[in-house]
Amino acid sequence: MSALHAVVIGGGMVGAACADALARQGARVTVLEPGPVGGGATAAGMGHLVVMDDSPAQLALTAHSLELWEMLARDLPPQADHRACGTLWVASDDEELAAVEPKRQAYLAAGREATLLDAAELACAEPGLRPGLAGALRVPGDSVVYAPVAAQFLLTRAGATVRPEKVAALIDGGVRLDGGEILHADVVVVANGIGAAALLPELPLRQRKGHLLITERGAPQVNHQLVELGYLKSAHGGDGDSVAFNVQPRPTGQLLVGSSRQFGQPERSIDWPLLRRMLRRAAGFLPALAQTSALRVWTGQRCATPDHLPLVGPHPFLSGVFLATGHEGLGITTALGTAELLSAHLFGTPSALLAHDFTPMRFGRVPEAVHA
Ligand SMILES: Cc1cc2nc3c(=O)[nH]c(=O)nc-3n(C[C@H](O)[C@H](O)[C@H](O)COP(=O)(O)OP(=O)(O)OC[C@H]3O[C@@H](n4cnc5c(N)ncnc54)[C@H](O)[C@@H]3O)c2cc1C
Repeated sequence: MSALHAVVIGGGMVGAACADALARQGARVTVLEPGPVGGGATAAGMGHLVVMDDSPAQLALTAHSLELWEMLARDLPPQADHRACGTLWVASDDEELAAVEPKRQAYLAAGREATLLDAAELACAEPGLRPGLAGALRVPGDSVVYAPVAAQFLLTRAGATVRPEKVAALIDGGVRLDGGEILHADVVVVANGIGAAALLPELPLRQRKGHLLITERGAPQVNHQLVELGYLKSAHGGDGDSVAFNVQPRPTGQLLVGSSRQFGQPERSIDWPLLRRMLRRAAGFLPALAQTSALRVWTGQRCATPDHLPLVGPHPFLSGVFLATGHEGLGITTALGTAELLSAHLFGTPSALLAHDFTPMRFGRVPEAVHA
């Protein structure tokens, strides 16, 4: 019997992880990617592999994905720059520090180590932070990765055929390419990030723009990925523009500085007032940053769903079409868990993640759109 032929739309971190998972089940995989592998949101992101606990489903997906990253890290090439630097969730005041205990308990329950640092321990762990901070939650198992290299590694390991083609439409039993060619497949996986909104306009997907900055070498020394505990309320909360302190040390002596969130900003241009706000916030935590030069600034588009959880599983009504999109700011972290979940849907392989609701069906049966 010939192997199942899967077409994966998109060669970002999620598409690459899905291609690898399908190939491990014996599928023949074709990936359609008009740009460089990992050149979309994957290249724009920070590559912070982080356990997050906004909801039980998100905690399960991120915690399990971290375990999968720990296994994969043994095989990744050095250029993927995977480092277990851990995260420090920094508390500005006693109120934030007091509220951290439920977060710590949630992490422990999910099998992730998490310890409390008081003000003195935080100052010792990160001398560059301003004095007067209340403490931090240290999550030592979190890590960072250079995702475009990881994506390329997974596609190569999958033995996937990567074609530099853009998909114009989903059709019965396959896809139609931009140039008009029809490509037949047993299964189509829509993993093209925010590009899924154009292919499947019936899905509730929205762009959420982010800015990142990388400094010159010689930036203030930082040992962990540093994120303010106010991150969730300040950066994720509402629909308005927001910034939060989020800094990552690079092995080159540079710092990656984030983060910002904006809906309704589809263009790639830099929003300078917002960038200034973001940097002022970062320098409020890491004062020496104010004296550090920037090397480059860029933006990227996160693909957001209404409940901030990805869409993973069969399309609500198109047979043979599976979704792996809508990962917003966690798609590097959750790509491996997503791929396991997709494999569970397609091949019946085991995954505890099936117990949680990532299915596109959760948004109800959508009105049938016209697909060419
Ligand atoms: C500023 C910023 C910071 C971030 N930081 C982090 C972080 O620290 N940790 C984390 O886990 N996540 C982070 N993210 C989120 C993460 O980058 C994304 O969730 C993740 O990259 C999504 O991967 P993807 O493969 O779904 O999408 P993409 O990487 O966007 O890949 C989709 C691919 O599909 C291709 N494509 C689009 N349309 C078509 C089509 N019609 N046909 C064929 N191909 C198509 C595109 O060319 C693209 O390469 C961040 C995102 C941003 C913007």
